[in-house]
Amino acid sequence: MSECSAFPASPAGEPEFRYVAGMHGNEVLGRELVLNLMQYLCSEYKRGDQRIVHLVKETRIHLLPSMNPDGYEMAYKKGSELAGWAFGRYSYEGIDMNHNFADLNSVMWDAMERETDKSKLINHYFPIPEYYTSEEAFVASETRAVISWMKSIPFVLSANLHGGELVVTYPFDMTRDWAPHEHTPTPDDSFFRWLATVYASTNNVMSNPDRRICHYDDFMRHNNIINGANWHTVPGSMNDFSYLHTNCFEVTVELSCDKFPHVSELPIEWENNKESLLIYMEQVHRGIKGLVRDKDTGAGIADAVIKVDDIDHHIRSVVGGDYWRLLNPGEYEVTASAKGYYPVTRMCRVEYHHYPTLCDFHLPKTLKQRLLDILAKGGKIPKSVKQRLHQLRMRAGAHTINRHRARERRARAFRR
Ligand SMILES: [Zn+2]
Repeated sequence: MSECSAFPASPAGEPEFRYVAGMHGNEVLGRELVLNLMQYLCSEYKRGDQRIVHLVKETRIHLLPSMNPDGYEMAYKKGSELAGWAFGRYSYEGIDMNHNFADLNSVMWDAMERETDKSKLINHYFPIPEYYTSEEAFVASETRAVISWMKSIPFVLSANLHGGELVVTYPFDMTRDWAPHEHTPTPDDSFFRWLATVYASTNNVMSNPDRRICHYDDFMRHNNIINGANWHTVPGSMNDFSYLHTNCFEVTVELSCDKFPHVSELPIEWENNKESLLIYMEQVHRGIKGLVRDKDTGAGIADAVIKVDDIDHHIRSVVGGDYWRLLNPGEYEVTASAKGYYPVTRMCRVEYHHYPTLCDFHLPKTLKQRLLDILAKGGKIPKSVKQRLHQLRMRAGAHTINRHRARERRARAFRR
């Protein structure tokens, strides 16, 4: 009930979560785990398991078991023993979907190098470049479909399930100067490391100190997590795209040494990953959430920008004014701003437990916006607004004159 009173404008008020598996069609374990997770959530919900009931009631969960069904079919025909490293990895057109998203990292880093006025730089919601949206662009239909899905639902958290290693990687996935690998953190590095740690430390195989390494890399030395770009650079990855184009945070989970485990191994693999899959979903309830509203009318404001302290990455409110900002415990100065409103700043404190801090914002409309609203309705401007505008104009005028005089004085002093 407290949820209802906290979110009257949006009875749902639930964050959106997604798991995406099988973008590499031959890495099949993710697909099987996600299918099993669907069944598990339904049966446990019906049974009344309190943890699952809570999770399902508080979260909108989206599960995509197979992003690359064509690749899966190819690998499946060969079978577990013969599928190999790459067979079935690509789409039927030969596209590797994890290199196929718009490279917004380059857009961002190029702008940082070119722009001398740092205040003009954006740090979130990077637009998709034109070349990428053209009909001829080499973009898989599966990638296009997932991008439009990402744009239609305001996801907060996601994981991208792969196989062939045992490690959780977090953005950025791409290095800045095309180095083959280099540590390339996002402004949200500490939260991403937390997310990766949550999965890795609860996975039965990863967390086993006696396990053997899969191939060459010893990820156990780093607690089974690594910055994606520090492992190997991936331009156009889904994780980087999520972070730079939308509000959504996403990590990659490499679920098992074997990309195509035998069917007899599935029950034990489910047990290995069950807790990790659940606890990772619960992380969508960390940080702060709330509503951004118009102070006068109480109406929710969509597309308001939420800025946190000195984290150089903003997120935005969604339709209805709801927002979710994933954060580690701590005390933060949070500012909400929107076009036509004066920004509001308040302190929001994030605790250690599994539910977010409520942090609502009530933004007052700017005087200019009030005037525009009145004019748009064809009404007369009230006396109070007229007077206030007059005062502001006088003050601005005096300010300009004073500045002009000061400049003259300095120039004279210089000439002497
Ligand atoms: Zn993969």
